[in-house]
Amino acid sequence: MTQQLNIDLHTHSRCSDGALAPAALVERAAAAGVQVLALTDHDSTAGLDDASRRAGESGVQLVPGVEISSAWRAQSIHVLGLWIDPANQALRVALAGQSTRRNVRMREICAHLTGLGLPGAALLAIVEAQPGVATRAHLAAAMVAGGHARSVDDVFRKYLGRGKPARIAANWPGITEVVGWIVAAGGVAALAHPARYKLSASGRRQLLADFAAAGGSALEVVSGANAAHNIEACARWAASFGLRGSVGSDFHDPQLSWNPLGRLAKLPEGVTPVWRDRLV
Ligand code: AMP
Ligand code: MN
Ligand code: MN
Ligand code: MN
Repeated sequence: MTQQLNIDLHTHSRCSDGALAPAALVERAAAAGVQVLALTDHDSTAGLDDASRRAGESGVQLVPGVEISSAWRAQSIHVLGLWIDPANQALRVALAGQSTRRNVRMREICAHLTGLGLPGAALLAIVEAQPGVATRAHLAAAMVAGGHARSVDDVFRKYLGRGKPARIAANWPGITEVVGWIVAAGGVAALAHPARYKLSASGRRQLLADFAAAGGSALEVVSGANAAHNIEACARWAASFGLRGSVGSDFHDPQLSWNPLGRLAKLPEGVTPVWRDRLV
């Protein structure tokens, strides 16, 4: 069946590394025509109450979500939890653990920056002063503001990205454990941006097999501005592994050059929507 609704199941607010407060994000999405919206902050559900309140006022259906960082064979893999119960006690404990892992990693990264001659302690203080979970995006923004790099991309290219001197692998829990948290909290686990991971074809198949075996039920088939060939590949992978399809912008900031809110491609025909049986 053709996708009728304007749906976006992957967005960020200030509770992680998004630019907008949760209510402002909902308003902006509503103005852009989004009818069903998931707030999926990195390892945090702190914005869901505010988002839900504003969604009620704006006529948007809010899907309670989260984007959890996990590890699979030394890679960081992001798993979206959709329709989770944010009050689930085990999930709350798990996300508190994620926040601790983020804080530990941030201190290690900043210590490395100090070793490289940058003001690591001052940068750490800036990141720790912001209210949401600590992400590398916050650190990158602080480094740009301090004149240590020209842009966020520049920071990742020089310091924080794969193989760079201040790259610290966080001690994320395995993907099977993370999928388990989501399912136990009543949610649906969807693998975020599956085309973005650096994997061989056989590595990707193994990841998808492990994800499905763990109880994962969907792939993000339409992910932000991903090109048509990625959408087709993701649709094929979903079919091969018996997974449903999701649609998400990964929206962070209206200032970025392409604003995907309300303008995502539709889920291709033949892919079972992750929202089937879930939308009222
Ligand atoms: P973290 O979850 O703490 O590892 O932070 C990674 C976040 O940094 C991602 O969710 C992106 O939003 C952001 N980011 C921005 N630019 C880049 C980049 N060039 N490489 C990786 N992450 C980036
Ligand atoms: Mn992010
Ligand atoms: Mn992600
Ligand atoms: Mn995201």
